[in-house]
Amino acid sequence: MSTEPVLPIPLSTPIRHSSLQATVRWGERVVTVGGDAPVRVQSMTNTDTEDVIGTAIQVKELALAGSELVRITVNTPAAAQAVPHIREQLDRMGVDVPLVGDFHYNGHRLLTDEPACAQALSKYRINPGNVGKGDKHDRQFGQMIEAAMRWDKPVRIGVNWGSLDQELLARLMDQNGQRAQPWESRQVMYEALIASAIESAQLAESMGMPSHQILLSCKVSGVQDLVAVYRELAKRCHYPLHLGLTEAGMGVKGTVASSTALGILLQEGIGDTIRVSLTPQPGESRTQEVVIAAEILQSLGLRKFVPSVTACPGCGRTTSTTFQELAKQIDDYLRANMPMWRARYPGVENLKVAVMGCIVNGPGESKHADIGISLPGTGEAPAAPVFIDGEKALTLRGESIATEFHQIVEQYIEKKYGTAIA
Ligand code: SF4
Repeated sequence: MSTEPVLPIPLSTPIRHSSLQATVRWGERVVTVGGDAPVRVQSMTNTDTEDVIGTAIQVKELALAGSELVRITVNTPAAAQAVPHIREQLDRMGVDVPLVGDFHYNGHRLLTDEPACAQALSKYRINPGNVGKGDKHDRQFGQMIEAAMRWDKPVRIGVNWGSLDQELLARLMDQNGQRAQPWESRQVMYEALIASAIESAQLAESMGMPSHQILLSCKVSGVQDLVAVYRELAKRCHYPLHLGLTEAGMGVKGTVASSTALGILLQEGIGDTIRVSLTPQPGESRTQEVVIAAEILQSLGLRKFVPSVTACPGCGRTTSTTFQELAKQIDDYLRANMPMWRARYPGVENLKVAVMGCIVNGPGESKHADIGISLPGTGEAPAAPVFIDGEKALTLRGESIATEFHQIVEQYIEKKYGTAIA
């Protein structure tokens, strides 16, 4: 067998499935979703929407962490009346992130009775499993679509297997019973999720809703289920798709499950907005779901949000925890400063920093980064070479290596990205 290359190895580049593009606006802020727009990060508050200040503060935190759309629940008349005040509060704070209203059961009434709410929101999420049963279903769904058209807002038809349209499911179960070889009940459920989303979109279009202002989602909580459903959904429509593993869980489990499911689908070009539905650990910030969503996109090379810090895992050659601490400090520092740097240092999100534990891979990895440091491993001289733009620039020694490296990174950012200010 010859190992001579005949053709170059193809680059791994996902091709996006959606051809339609929705536009979500608030004031001057325009967030496009679908088509050739970047995959967007979305999040959702867990405050009581009636608490105007508490909700506005959390929306601001989520937006500063990188959320490009923030969803809030709109579940009562008081919550709907609070929405324009939340919007005003955000505008006063200089936060122009578009707000998405999450409606269930009474959305038709809230959007009709509270026009200021309908206007202050930038997008509506409609769950077709929760818009009314029997002959009320289409009428109440229609009222929400009418509000969307009146206020020129896009809608996400968001199906969830926990609140699937039971009448539709029963119909598909009956049909399945007639088959010579019935499908597995899970396959009928997949079909029901997709049919609910697509039939609702078709109904919205038949009422006059422009197709490019419709997004779909079909959320389930199992990784393989999500992959199966979205692959099929992407084959059957060209609407932008919102992607998320619902009820992903807490901590490591939720993070890994979401990353695995979203990673597979995004790599196949499926997904135009994403949300990581993480249950926060006690005391953990709500913004963690935004950090993980952004990291998924950044890891796949689809977006750049924050400078990347490459750090080795450490091993028996590592002499101390200095390199772990330094890697963490640098990562925290870069993330904490990004809200301010986005405006002050355009392009700083492309910065690559390497913090390595010894000379085995340290100098090599550091040279691939914009700025890197190789800390001394066991048996190595107590010196830490620093590489800038691929060249060894200086060597740090002594107790203050961490502080000095920190300063070098700051100076590098100022010099490289500070000059870009107009
Ligand atoms: S760079 Fe050195 S310390 Fe880090 S994992 Fe590799 S051998 Fe171990």
